[in-house]
Amino acid sequence: MSEPLHRVQRAIRAGTEAPRLEVFTERQFDAIEPLRRLPGEQRRAMRAVAQVLPFRVNRYVIDELIDWSAVPDDPLFQLTFPQPGMLAEADLAAVLSAMDRGDRTALSEVVGDIRARLNPHPAGQQSLNVPVENGVPLPGMQHKYRETVLFFPAQGQTCHSYCTFCFRWAQFVGDKSLRFAARERDVLHDYLARHREVTDLLVTGGDPLVMKTRHLADYLEPLAGPRLAHVQSLRIGTKSLTFWPHRYVTDDDADDLLRLLERLVRAGKHVALMAHYNHWREMETPMAREAIRRVRDTGAVIRTQAPLLAHINDDPAVWARMWRTQVALGMVPYYMFVERDTGARRYFEVPLATAWGIYREAMQQVSGLARTARGPSMSAAPGKVEVQGVTEVGGEKVFVLRFIQARNPDWVQRPFFARYDENATWLDQLKPAFGEKAFFFEAEFRRMQAERLQAN
Ligand SMILES: *Cc1c(COP(=O)(O)O)cnc(C)c1O
Ligand code: SF4
Repeated sequence: MSEPLHRVQRAIRAGTEAPRLEVFTERQFDAIEPLRRLPGEQRRAMRAVAQVLPFRVNRYVIDELIDWSAVPDDPLFQLTFPQPGMLAEADLAAVLSAMDRGDRTALSEVVGDIRARLNPHPAGQQSLNVPVENGVPLPGMQHKYRETVLFFPAQGQTCHSYCTFCFRWAQFVGDKSLRFAARERDVLHDYLARHREVTDLLVTGGDPLVMKTRHLADYLEPLAGPRLAHVQSLRIGTKSLTFWPHRYVTDDDADDLLRLLERLVRAGKHVALMAHYNHWREMETPMAREAIRRVRDTGAVIRTQAPLLAHINDDPAVWARMWRTQVALGMVPYYMFVERDTGARRYFEVPLATAWGIYREAMQQVSGLARTARGPSMSAAPGKVEVQGVTEVGGEKVFVLRFIQARNPDWVQRPFFARYDENATWLDQLKPAFGEKAFFFEAEFRRMQAERLQAN
């Protein structure tokens, strides 16, 4: 490996390098030194956007990931810093005007109004996915697909930095009614024990790896026992390998974390970090590479996933290089997502037809080992719908679609067709092909929704 990696390893052994996570939010905007080089107007607009959408960035991202000579186009800058175009022009003007007047009440009203219009809860996450037992909803969990339970530990509902496109943005901006987090680890373990059909637990956030290892162990260790033997796979959704790889290398409890992963692997579990990577540049620093190496040494697998985003990675060459780098580093490409219909989606969205083109061209540039990523996939209310391609059937141009995951397992892997629409960006904009009135799953999905409404 390269010289720098040896330097990181030497520094770690010598115990000289244990950087602390230093974060900047909207309040510390002016303390971010390289930002001062940007024109005042641009900084003001960025600050206005940060009133509405969450902003949090740490020194490692600022100093080692962002290429400040390429700002504002730099993809890592776009990934973490608010951009003027993320709000509609009128909304941006309204925020700026309230800021200029120094009117806190007006500002919070304007901000609240804009947030409410940004679809804070896409895909019915709360109303449809939170399990209800004996009439009582179990907060901090989602059980949408038969074999997989999602768990949101209360201490893991933030991230080492925030992504500007995050579909969970609403939970970061302080609106408590939008948070679904669990405090009770017993609620999780009892639920899993009662549900023998569950083979996978997916711990997510925010980022569960902002938690101390001992808290994480509280949730995870019981999985190794006989009561939860049916839960074979444990996934942890995280962007810490990008935003704070020190979590695995130099943090006080980094080694404890690796030992925890190792114990779960030894207990026979499939342990996977579901690593969120948007760009190959996130994997280039010696610290990032050392973190990947250490996680892989535990026997845990790293699978990678990311949305396709304008301004960040809407380029087949970026995806091809990202997937190749991941395979070279021993990771497994898993999903390419379509950006969800929430938050700053207007800024980031890519039409489905373009997304498919980018996926296809990227696939053509890599070997079979990197062709494990499925997509582009929409995590919609009925399930994960993949755009398989664009073709012509009986003279009609169509999208070929399939569920790669669905509320009813019977829907999975059935090809279905939508009328081609070069501008459509989400499932709800698609119409069935061949003059059909509805997609094959719609009537059943509506019945499911109605049943849930009654249960709630
Ligand atoms: C993607 C997803 C899963 C996991 O699905 P897999 O096909 O097993 O990767 C589980 N729950 C929800 C809500 C999801 O969006
Ligand atoms: S790391 Fe994940 S949860 Fe956190 S801001 Fe980024 S996309 Fe959102």
